[in-house]
Amino acid sequence: MRVFAIAEHRLGELNPTSFELLNLANKIKGDGTSEAVIIGDETLSNSLASHADTVWSISGDQLENYNPESHADVLLQLFKREPPDTVLLGNTSQGYELAPLIAAKLHCPIVTDIVEASPEQKGLTVSRYIYQGKLMVDLKISRTPCILTVRQGIFKNEAKLSGKIIKLKLNPTKPPKRRFLKLIEPEKCEVDICKADAIVAIGRGATASLQLATKLAALIGGTLAGSRPVIDSGLLTKDRQVGISGKTVKPKIYIALGISGAFQHTIGMKDSELIIAVNKDPQAPIFNVAHYGAIADVQEILPKIINKLEEHPPTPTT
Ligand SMILES: Cc1cc2nc3c(=O)[nH]c(=O)nc-3n(C[C@H](O)[C@H](O)[C@H](O)COP(=O)(O)OP(=O)(O)OC[C@H]3O[C@@H](n4cnc5c(N)ncnc54)[C@H](O)[C@@H]3O)c2cc1C
Repeated sequence: MRVFAIAEHRLGELNPTSFELLNLANKIKGDGTSEAVIIGDETLSNSLASHADTVWSISGDQLENYNPESHADVLLQLFKREPPDTVLLGNTSQGYELAPLIAAKLHCPIVTDIVEASPEQKGLTVSRYIYQGKLMVDLKISRTPCILTVRQGIFKNEAKLSGKIIKLKLNPTKPPKRRFLKLIEPEKCEVDICKADAIVAIGRGATASLQLATKLAALIGGTLAGSRPVIDSGLLTKDRQVGISGKTVKPKIYIALGISGAFQHTIGMKDSELIIAVNKDPQAPIFNVAHYGAIADVQEILPKIINKLEEHPPTPTT
């Protein structure tokens, strides 16, 4: 099938979600093609070409800055010429806006915030959470094209391709009702836990151990994160929250300290490469997702781990 991934960019940089969309496109394309679409910044086409069979690089009047009406307009022109089977967009503020616009114009099905997709003999099966993450449903989509918005931070495996770049000049068919005036940047986050290779996450059971956890994080070159109660208590900032209403992370190592393992938390970290949990309750559900677990008091075990690490500092990995 032909799977199109709509790349996002701002101030000359691609949003990493663009590559995740292409990773998913490569996973589901079968003997078809993964095709990136970038609107308004030709210079980013080369990076996309390393993850896609084809890159459609669209330029035209007033397309440099994101405008939902103009971008939907040129996407629809492209899809008229090059009919897609599936269109992937990030489950981002741009994706929320563009995806339904395109789906309505194409009269086709749309599923938002998917976390999994696999090809079927006819169409696709996609998975998404419902009821605020309490249940997951599988949906079969047999009509094409279909539009999917994809949760960020999930499809991280990298495919190295060297796709061809096709440049297209397309102008919106009518002037948009909205105009781009200026970009107001959000306040800089303290950290981006999604990019961390090592995370030390503290839960309600480890709030008294913040200093020790900070020391552990420093020793392993990691970043501090937390469960929702820890964020709500103000101990850590919101940008460090892991889980369904926080961030999805996939570090090389995730150390969960005093975290019970409610599904709203584990949804955001269960795909980490190595999970180590410390909890004094042997029944804590965090042990169901952990690769290694210690039934212990965080306050007692952390000084021992820190001593060991100070004696034998870990060698940095890349
Ligand atoms: C709509 C909705 C969205 C939500 N979103 C999120 C989200 O994004 N992220 C999130 O994390 N949660 C989220 N939650 C909350 C979630 O349901 C849990 O309440 C939360 O994850 C529990 O956090 P916790 O594990 O830190 O605390 P608790 O559940 O209170 O667990 C504390 C754990 O620490 C252990 N413990 C206590 N003392 C020690 C000690 N000294 N040493 C070792 N272990 C100890 C206890 O045995 C226990 O298992 C959400 C809930 C809802 C309803």
